[in-house]
Amino acid sequence: MTTRTRVGLLGGTFDPIHNGHLAAARAAQDALALSQVRFIPSARPPHRPDSPRASEYHRIEMIRRATAGVAGWEVSDLELRRDGPSYSFDTLTAFHQEGLTPLQIFFIIGADAFAEITSWHRYPEVLSASHFVVVTRPGFSLDTLFERVPGLPGRLIATADVAASARPGIVLVESRTPDVSSTEVRRRAASGDSLADLVPPEVAGYIEQHQLYRAPTPPSAAPQNDSPTVPSGS
Ligand code: ATP
Ligand code: MG
Repeated sequence: MTTRTRVGLLGGTFDPIHNGHLAAARAAQDALALSQVRFIPSARPPHRPDSPRASEYHRIEMIRRATAGVAGWEVSDLELRRDGPSYSFDTLTAFHQEGLTPLQIFFIIGADAFAEITSWHRYPEVLSASHFVVVTRPGFSLDTLFERVPGLPGRLIATADVAASARPGIVLVESRTPDVSSTEVRRRAASGDSLADLVPPEVAGYIEQHQLYRAPTPPSAAPQNDSPTVPSGS
């Protein structure tokens, strides 16, 4: 891996992966000329009250199918192999230990998720652990992002200036990703509705084959797999 290699990381629950995730990855890859994008499903997302509905096995299999055949796209089971909550800071540290510098890592994240960054484990140090590529998400306003993340304007870098920057920064990528969420996919699957316009055909087929998400999401947090309840206050 040369020092100029740029690696994108896209973390998420991926319960399941959908067209919005894929569009966000593509938009970030195109904007920053990323040579690789690694999709990293989380084991125990720190900010979610409920455990993922689908097992780790199914979530990773769906990502494999959705990303197969795209050059440079890979799935990483790094967070699934680690005990405890899936903190992004720990994931970034693992990539540093692999030999990547913070300037080579591009943490891809939707604007809705990035708006919560001040509540993350090891904030604000986490912002120095890699570049952050914030991709717009339909229905989420950039005003809200600027209100919630103090000091954001001072940390923003234009895509063209990334190569010359001596410090990791925040890059805003304005892209029309499809208005899809995993919540909507789960809801449609529970009703037996078509998933054709929400997920790639391979993922729709997998959900159908394994009858995933068929029971409606329970109103109270009833874990459906063996993940422990997630601690809050990360
Ligand atoms: P859920 O409805 O279960 O919260 P989700 O659709 O938000 O699922 P996540 O796995 O929570 O998916 O998201 C992983 C990452 O992908 C987050 O950074 C999120 O902001 C981003 N993302 C998800 N959907 C989109 C989209 N349509 N456009 C841009 N970014 C997205
Ligand atoms: Mg989400």
